[in-house]
Amino acid sequence: MSTIRSQVSPPMGGAIRGPMGVFGGTFDPIHYGHLRTAFELLDSLRLPEMRFMPAGNPPHRTATFASNELRLRMVQAATAGQPRFTVDDREMRKLGPSYSVETLAELREEFPERPLCLVIGMDAFLGLPRWHQWRTLLDLAHLVVAHRPGWRAPSMGPLGELLVDHGTGTVRDLHDSISGKIYIHAVTQLEISSTEVRALMAAGRDPCYLMPDAVRQIVLESGCYARKEEAQG
Ligand code: ATP
Repeated sequence: MSTIRSQVSPPMGGAIRGPMGVFGGTFDPIHYGHLRTAFELLDSLRLPEMRFMPAGNPPHRTATFASNELRLRMVQAATAGQPRFTVDDREMRKLGPSYSVETLAELREEFPERPLCLVIGMDAFLGLPRWHQWRTLLDLAHLVVAHRPGWRAPSMGPLGELLVDHGTGTVRDLHDSISGKIYIHAVTQLEISSTEVRALMAAGRDPCYLMPDAVRQIVLESGCYARKEEAQG
């Protein structure tokens, strides 16, 4: 387990009660698809906190396009106006690979009695059996799966069985226990992806209205997506 202390911004004043949403991603860059999803979950699940966890950029993995420092600045800028959004840079501070199960184990140690809700997209959920120690995730946290309206949950295979054992349609369950439930929630789908934003910027076009203006300023000033497919490490 990492001994590196994370930095959470804004600094938490006093102890927060109630479930913490944990929203991981490369956020390269962060855009309104991420922010709207996070906000709808915050609201519908009555979460006092949604913690954004930008993924690290370890040397053995495909590098992100913007540096850790820039991605962190973008996430901080994007979330600054919403007091229930916080940013935790612990995964960026790790030198080795960063697995969700390890991040959740650290959070569980820091918050032994607080429900944790790991937010994942439907694509990620369908690939869950390939995650490192995936069955341990539910010992540490709830899973909140954000999906398109009209989508049907898998009813067969390991994920079908997992849903039979752990699925719930009741928000209260996410507040009454600290881990172990899977809650599937429809969110408004904004067809924005970081890949498309990067491609657009590499073509010299303006990403306005796809992301908050403060993030747009950072990407324009830094030029981090100005040239196509050139990772910055
Ligand atoms: P890339 O295009 O580089 O793969 P991305 O736009 O998918 O990036 P990530 O940082 O990889 O962004 O995503 C973090 C999380 O946000 C993932 O769980 C992903 O499913 C979710 N997500 C990404 N885009 C959207 C969107 N438009 N609406 C809802 N959720 C999204």
